Amino acid sequence: MSDTVYTCPHCGKKMNKWQSPDESNWGGAIRYVCFSDECPYYVRGWEWMKEKYGVSSSYRSSINPESGWTGPLPVASPDHLKPGIVD
Ligand SMILES: [Zn+2]
Repeated sequence: MSDTVYTCPHCGKKMNKWQSPDESNWGGAIRYVCFSDECPYYVRGWEWMKEKYGVSSSYRSSINPESGWTGPLPVASPDHLKPGIVD
């Protein structure tokens, strides 16, 4: 394990190490996630999802440290998924 620090490509804040729930598709895999509530990516997500789908949800910026894959992590509320933060 390395101590690489991942910063959010959207707001520049340090991303939190996060473990996906065992029952999810990712089965306990580690991701780094931007949990900043001021992240423009996350803030825009609420408006976008409302406009496009009429639903109240958003997504946070995330990265897979093994593959380097970056993408959205869907959240249904500001506190959703925060219990998975491990750092
Ligand atoms: Zn961010």
